[in-house]
Amino acid sequence: MLTIGSAMAYAQDANFNFSGTIRYDYELVGDAHSVKVVHQQSKKLPQWGGPTNKLIDAQNLGTYAYQLFDLATGELIFQKGFSPLFQEWQTTAEAFAKQRSYYQALFFPVPLKDVRILINERDEKNSWKLIFTDTLKVDDYFVIQETPVKYPAKYLRNNGHPHEKIDILILAEGYRVDEQVKFLSDASRLTDSLFKAEPFASYADRFNVQAIQVPSQESGTDVPGENIYRNTAFNAHFYTFDSPRYLTTSDMKAIYDAIDAYAWDHLYLLVNTDRYGGGGMFNFLSVCSSDNEQSPFVFCHEFGHGFAGLGDEYYTSSTSYEIYYSKTVEPWEPNLTTLVDFGAKWKHMLLPGIPVPTPREEIFSGKVGVFEGGGYEPKGIYSPVMSCWMKERVAGKFCPVCEKAIETVILNCSK
Ligand SMILES: [Zn+2]
Repeated sequence: MLTIGSAMAYAQDANFNFSGTIRYDYELVGDAHSVKVVHQQSKKLPQWGGPTNKLIDAQNLGTYAYQLFDLATGELIFQKGFSPLFQEWQTTAEAFAKQRSYYQALFFPVPLKDVRILINERDEKNSWKLIFTDTLKVDDYFVIQETPVKYPAKYLRNNGHPHEKIDILILAEGYRVDEQVKFLSDASRLTDSLFKAEPFASYADRFNVQAIQVPSQESGTDVPGENIYRNTAFNAHFYTFDSPRYLTTSDMKAIYDAIDAYAWDHLYLLVNTDRYGGGGMFNFLSVCSSDNEQSPFVFCHEFGHGFAGLGDEYYTSSTSYEIYYSKTVEPWEPNLTTLVDFGAKWKHMLLPGIPVPTPREEIFSGKVGVFEGGGYEPKGIYSPVMSCWMKERVAGKFCPVCEKAIETVILNCSK
């Protein structure tokens, strides 16, 4: 009986061919109030890195989500949430004054039947709003099937088949050809820091990590606020939204083109600089600098965003966002609450006698409570502990609520 049960639990979803991936490229174009999706190109890639069952992600995380429906029957067959950089930009002052476009792609296993593709974004009540539909036919010969470029790569962790494991690709950014040994050393050192941290340590055997050795023309990265520019593979830069430490790139096409040959679930851009900084967007991209003394912490913090959709628990640092969280709706991030629907969050993890809200007083240090301050706001947004890695380095670890959220993603996506 056990054998039959296991076989059924691990059965591959019958709607897809898992020997390949469809990459559906598009641009998000708009401003603070509006968004338009414009399809750019579609490609068929030689591997699929995600799971082969449980393809409808029910965690409901992210600011955007895409869905696939069987065109003939209308059945939902795939769903995944994510948070593109475009959505963060929409909350900046610039987005109230002009339009911009951001390039990105959807990824899903190759459907066996014609499908309808839907893209949804959150509305002001955090409900999903449909913004785009398209159809993809299985016999569409305009879906590009080129042999992708394959850069040298090295496994830093190899624990099994990509369908069963969570595959992280670390990409070299701002490393010249003669700096690739340094890149492998940096990637290895920071990967070690991630797997020393719980809950990644306990589930380390569910992850594969590969370092992709993409050479850059020049060493380092752009620092626009200091007129420093470097010609690098993925055009990463500090001063994202004019925030000096916010290190990202909007050149997602360059990233995707470099990794078409690989199976992956999460992308990490490792930037060759000793400046402090990073960035992390859920199911989209994590970015970290290599040589700052805080890089081991930043590497874990940003992956908290990129991997599990965790929100920032800090509330004193300046950001470029006008109003990031509405205080009248519950944020979707698992480690932040407005108390609008606290029961849906970590209320069950509070010990008896912990007041709601919980004062930031020494007697509650290290305890799970509901501490006012979080999500860039000192008032009206609440965090689970007084100090967590999603707030500051001195915490030394993820808090129990963040740990639980990370563990949930791990268990949903791997064996
Ligand atoms: Zn936390």
